[in-house]
Formats: sequence, C-alpha cells, structure tokens
Amino acid sequence: MTGATVFEGGCACGGIRYRTAARPQRSIFCHCSQCRKWNGAPAVVGAQFPTVEMQITGTPATYRSSESACRQFCPDCGGSLFYLNDTTPEFISVMVATLDNPELAPPTAHIFAAKGLSWCRIDDALPRHRAWLDSEEMP
Ligand SMILES: [Zn+2]
Ligand SMILES: [Zn+2]
Repeated sequence: MTGATVFEGGCACGGIRYRTAARPQRSIFCHCSQCRKWNGAPAVVGAQFPTVEMQITGTPATYRSSESACRQFCPDCGGSLFYLNDTTPEFISVMVATLDNPELAPPTAHIFAAKGLSWCRIDDALPRHRAWLDSEEMP
C-alpha cells in the first residue's frame, strides 16, 4: 500500500527489528520509577500498538518488571524495546525513541507526573496526570 505510514524501528545493534502499519492507540510520556530504571532515562515515551499487527524479527529477552507487566529488550545490545501488560494483551508498547523516525509518534500526555524528577521539566502543554491516564491532572 502506498501512502500508509509504516512504524518501524529496532534496537541499537539492529538484532531486533519491529514493524507495523497499524496506527498507535496512544503515545505517552511515563515518569514512573520502573520506566526510568529500565531505560536508564529520566522519562520515557511509549506508543501502544495492536499486538496482532506488530511484526518482530529477532528474539527479545524478557524481564518481568511487576506482577502484571513485562519488558522486552535486545539480549545483545541491551536496548529497551517493548512493554507488555498481562491485563491488556491486545496491545504492545514500543519505546518511541527506538523508532527509526520517532517524530511519527509524538506523545499526547504525561503519566506518573507526580513521580517525575524535579530537574526533568518538560515544557510542553500536554496534560500531566499524577498517575495513570484516568488520574487527576497536575497544574
Ligand atoms: Zn540489539
Ligand atoms: Zn512507566
């Protein structure tokens, strides 16, 4: 199909690649401590895609980060790639910075903003939720 946006990307070494022509359901900045630790970054943007339409080449390693969630990464370069939640298996989140063109999936909100680092102030006009998307917004 011509004209359809393809979202593709991969880890730093290229050992794991992914590709989908589906549109992301959402793209969100997360400031939670698990995302920070796992990515080694002060905040992370993840975009949620339909799992069935995501093609992955290579075999990512899996880390269970909480009772309901797993994170997948490249076993060779260690690059953080995917977030999966057992309660919503129909979606897979990709770390937007691993897209070949991260401009394709700009975030539309912040979550766990109440846990954000004081020195990581992202000066945008997006809603800043204290915790999950359905939580109260911060000023
Ligand atoms: Zn890799
Ligand atoms: Zn998070």
